[in-house]
Amino acid sequence: MEVNCHGCAGCCLDWRPLLEADDGSNRRRRARSAPHDGGAERERAFSERVPLGGSYNFVALTRGEIRTLLERGAAAALTPRFWTVAEEREGVEIGDRRVAAVAGRPVFFVGLRKPPKPVAPFGREEPTWLPTCVFLDPTTLQCRIHGSDRFPDECGTYPEQTLALGAETECERVETRFGGERLLERDHDDPDGLLFGPQALGAKLFCHPRPDELEGLLDRLERGEPSATDRAECIAVAAASSPGTVAVSKPHYERALERLEGDEPDGDAWIAPAIEEWHRRRDRTRAGEAIPDPELAAKIEDRRGAPETPGWE
Ligand code: SF4
Repeated sequence: MEVNCHGCAGCCLDWRPLLEADDGSNRRRRARSAPHDGGAERERAFSERVPLGGSYNFVALTRGEIRTLLERGAAAALTPRFWTVAEEREGVEIGDRRVAAVAGRPVFFVGLRKPPKPVAPFGREEPTWLPTCVFLDPTTLQCRIHGSDRFPDECGTYPEQTLALGAETECERVETRFGGERLLERDHDDPDGLLFGPQALGAKLFCHPRPDELEGLLDRLERGEPSATDRAECIAVAAASSPGTVAVSKPHYERALERLEGDEPDGDAWIAPAIEEWHRRRDRTRAGEAIPDPELAAKIEDRRGAPETPGWE
């Protein structure tokens, strides 16, 4: 498996807005066009479930990874994703929607947030505000936690496992849209070890034990405005889940909530204020200001303590 990630980060951000906004003047190269068939549509067609919360290319984390981020005070990087379903046998009714469930308990992922950041991927000359992984440095387009013990397994195995499943990779979508060679070699292992099916329960796919309390949370997720309390609730349930079961340990849940409500350690305390600042800056652009240079990340992320990236040289 060999990929060319320099200047791309296509799997770390939602580049679909570029397709709608692009008038062709901001591209150095352009490959043949293809119908707009973004990841959310593919996800829907594949699973017949409509995601509620999260983002395009959502990086779903394991219970162990969630616990690690929680311990490092990086919970501000996390958000949940539920799904709505049409089939009665697949879900439970909560308010006026039916959400995917196992044994009557709504199921969800916990993954990484994508706040707006000014980025210029794929050889573009001008930056654009795009939903971008909280850990992606918009200047170097590199991951700030690559090689650390916080690096998600799902990112480390991408796009290998996607190829093993016979699905199209983000590398190929970027090549189709913007040209260049991203996927340099297609060899891959068999998809052993994927957390699909029953083994995902409690390990990557979590069950919420109190469906009756979720209506407001799901409303806010649908609007793209989950509160810190909503996110904390799902993170605590995930951290207190037991692999292979729908059980949630009450002591672990309460400990996780206490941890979430406590003081954040210095290490990853940059995350929450950086996310807020990116949103404020994006709103200023909406009010008429120019889109800032990606190097603004030095002030918003680096100076607050975000880990550096090595650069491409
Ligand atoms: S954790 Fe790193 S590799 Fe994974 S999506 Fe975020 S920036 Fe990309």
